[in-house]
Amino acid sequence: MLARWVVAAILTGLCALAPAHAKDSNIMADKHWSLAIHGGAGVITRDRLDEKQRGGIEAALGQALDAGSTVLAAGGSAVDAVQAVVEVLEDDPHFNAGRGAVFTYEGSNELDAAIMDGSNRAAGAVAGVTHIRHPVALARAVMADSPHVFLSGAGAEEFAREKGFEMTDPAWFATESRRKALEEFKARKVSWFDIDLKYGTVGAVARDAQGHVAAATSTGGLTGKRWGRIGDSPVIGAGTYADDRTCAVSATGAGEFFVRAGVAHTICDRVRFLHETVQEAADATIKEVGELGGDGGVIVAGPDGTTAFSFNTPGMYRGRADSSGMHEIAIFGDD
Ligand code: ASP
Repeated sequence: MLARWVVAAILTGLCALAPAHAKDSNIMADKHWSLAIHGGAGVITRDRLDEKQRGGIEAALGQALDAGSTVLAAGGSAVDAVQAVVEVLEDDPHFNAGRGAVFTYEGSNELDAAIMDGSNRAAGAVAGVTHIRHPVALARAVMADSPHVFLSGAGAEEFAREKGFEMTDPAWFATESRRKALEEFKARKVSWFDIDLKYGTVGAVARDAQGHVAAATSTGGLTGKRWGRIGDSPVIGAGTYADDRTCAVSATGAGEFFVRAGVAHTICDRVRFLHETVQEAADATIKEVGELGGDGGVIVAGPDGTTAFSFNTPGMYRGRADSSGMHEIAIFGDD
């Protein structure tokens, strides 16, 4: 024990004696960035997706990836990048977030979102908002501009009004295909987890050139949800988490199982205490979700810039980019 302490003290002393430019050059060499995004996981197979849908989804993922990459390439923060990605996807009707969100049992669109900054573990989240075009922006305002972490329903919207957010007509969020999914849900009286074959929640994780990580997630939840149901997406530690010491995570899937498994926090803890890679930690945690009976996936970014995808569904809408020029978009499990 004493010997270890002596070695540590000598190493610390040596570091303090190192010339300042040596430290600076390390920082310079470390200016890379990386980004991973998702647009939901589920029974996404080639026979279920026609060319037009596929093209639309790939274009939207590409646009979102570009929005985040632009921020990171300019030296912007991981938090700004994940917000930029999610806002693009919230506006795109292909995804279950913002415009194109699924319907509640009563026929409204109730939106949940969260954002977390790994540099200081600041976090913000909102649930059940119905008039906010970009719920992720409101989550960011909760993080930056309120003493709280998680606001819901009417209170969250009152906060939004006070902060100058525009109130959006709920008609903006409603799409025909999601309305049909609700009708189908009611007619078939099937479970929440059967009806929506591709869930469509959106999220992003990033590592910026300063070495910080961040995560954001946004969703309409599950078709036919009732009684003010909230899933994993806005729950810090379940659907969203970021910590510079470990990783940043955004999840998608059957939220109840992700809440019960504390998915995002578990992945980070596995990295921290078991010293697993982000891929190993993500795979082990998704396996645990599967053992509980849940399905879905996660995207993860580590502070070293490594990114990982893990899902137990046939597909997940996903993409990644980094400062070396990598730019990938994928949909199916075997892509
Ligand atoms: N996880 C989301 C929820 O349960 C749904 C999804 O990912 O599509 O609200």
